[in-house]
Amino acid sequence: MNENINIEYLIGESNRCLNCKNARCKNSCPISTDIPNIINLFKNKAYEEAGELIFKNNPMSIVCSLICPFERQCMGNCIRGIKSTPVDFPAIENFLINHFLENKIFEILPESSHKKVAIIGAGPSGLSAGIILKTKGYDVTIFDENECMGGMLRYGIPDFRLSKKYIDLLEDKISELGIKFIGNSFFDKEKLLELKSSNEFDAILIAIGAWLPKKLEIEGHQQPHIFYGIDFLKNKTNLGTNKKIIVIGAGNVAMDVARTAKKQGNNVTVAYRKPLSQAPATKHEISETINDGVEFITEISPIKFENNGILFKNTAENTEVFLECDAVIVAISQYSLFDPNDMEGFFWAGDIVTGPQTVVQATLSGKKTAKEIHNYLSC
Ligand code: SF4
Repeated sequence: MNENINIEYLIGESNRCLNCKNARCKNSCPISTDIPNIINLFKNKAYEEAGELIFKNNPMSIVCSLICPFERQCMGNCIRGIKSTPVDFPAIENFLINHFLENKIFEILPESSHKKVAIIGAGPSGLSAGIILKTKGYDVTIFDENECMGGMLRYGIPDFRLSKKYIDLLEDKISELGIKFIGNSFFDKEKLLELKSSNEFDAILIAIGAWLPKKLEIEGHQQPHIFYGIDFLKNKTNLGTNKKIIVIGAGNVAMDVARTAKKQGNNVTVAYRKPLSQAPATKHEISETINDGVEFITEISPIKFENNGILFKNTAENTEVFLECDAVIVAISQYSLFDPNDMEGFFWAGDIVTGPQTVVQATLSGKKTAKEIHNYLSC
């Protein structure tokens, strides 16, 4: 979404909304944002009320309104989209949530329940759960291995797709709410079990995401010119310029990686084993990647890494093709440090439970687990 959209455009979009009774936009929103109602509030200039409604339902809406896969959710299902263009609800949502967060002063809430909750992981699921539990009166502390809050939002999504000023704003509001944050704090299994047996907290939620890159263990995979997508983004690896880079994979992380490498001044090709129509990345992200000048070669699957390129099998024709490159970035998926099935007595939320998902799915998971924790602590 264009962040510099003006109010006339938003009014125009809100006037195009048919205020459907059985709204397809709302039904296709993973977190069931009450879109027709919010559009009505916007039309009546009830910005504060609309912003509050959005934030309560989706504490990560400042991010979701920018990077949700809209084409598969609200906009892709809007009745207006059948004959013309769908209503641009994300732009309206982004305006309202910005307005709300920039103007709202959260008071430090009294800890009415006197119960303490620890949240390990300050990504979208952990932060959402923390906000919800804090507003219910719990004493919430969020720990994260990174210095600042945000998890994947801050360290895994490049700035050109998500400006960090939104994460900073969210961080300010979370502090205003009185949620404690302890950064640079890494928990392995042993440390988690210690925290649990210390009984310092009445409930512990693990929401550490999925940061370990899935490896492609074919011949030659241990060479130094082979990088992994999520590490590349997190470490802000600089590959230099004018290099030939091949990115393997076609999800949104692969698109972020390819665009980042391209913006560094390299010649970038995405290699994908299926037709592009089957790529997990959204059409929007693929077209942005193409617009940036990244090339795509589809229906090829890597069989061997050489020091100057990759040998692929053409999956359609069963032939072999060798592509030269200086570096490879594998971006085929991620997994998590722990398996929730191996550890009892903790609550879990986000990518650690579901595998890598969208921000809105992680938020929904954090919301559901916050409800479970509340039920557990209030019996
Ligand atoms: S489906 Fe489209 S027209 Fe109908 S309520 Fe949703 S945004 Fe408005």
